[in-house]
Amino acid sequence: MIIAVDGPAASGKGTIARALSRHYELPHLDTGLLYRAVAATVLRDSLTPEREADAIAACGFEDRLLEDPWLRSDEVGKVASIVSAHGLVRSALLQRQRRFAAQPGGAVLDGRDIGTVIAPDADAKLFVKATPAVRARRRHMELQKQGSTTTYDRVLADIRARDDRDASRSHAPMTMAADAAPLDTSFLSIEAAVRRAIELVDAQVAH
Ligand code: C5P
Repeated sequence: MIIAVDGPAASGKGTIARALSRHYELPHLDTGLLYRAVAATVLRDSLTPEREADAIAACGFEDRLLEDPWLRSDEVGKVASIVSAHGLVRSALLQRQRRFAAQPGGAVLDGRDIGTVIAPDADAKLFVKATPAVRARRRHMELQKQGSTTTYDRVLADIRARDDRDASRSHAPMTMAADAAPLDTSFLSIEAAVRRAIELVDAQVAH
């Protein structure tokens, strides 16, 4: 069974995808990490993320980079949304994601284009969303716990800028697949959101 989980930054899609992976005992791939690894390589090698040739040069990153906690930072996330707009970067990472999805038994993948491009024939598709204000509040609280002094307004502006870039790019923009089930987590606890996600997947698989 292949489960596609898409949605914007801080919508809860990662938490939901990990919970689905445990519940259905399927391997999980956070595809955002691949774009973050490209971004981290661009930053480390002082390349220019807007230049497609520079971003392509960063696609040959080593797998152990995927374990680096720096990849989860906002700095890297922001550059990830710049390099991910290049068509050649997306094609360089495509096969790896498709192979992961096609492994025997299936998989859970989360990202922006899983239900539309990577696994259009997925058995279940969710599009996880939440209002920008709620997502900014969650992200701001997380950053505060890490000792950051960034303001809520700054986080909200960053989230909006990232949404705009991800939704307006011409290659595989973030969009809900026609056959995906929307899941708005704005007013749900993590437990309630996970319960609802499992219900939605079970309902899609039963059809
Ligand atoms: O999900 P995460 O915030 O880690 O993703 C970082 C960036 O990588 C996103 O803002 C998006 O630009 C890009 N991305 C993408 N397609 C995916 C996953 C992530 O374009 N499937």
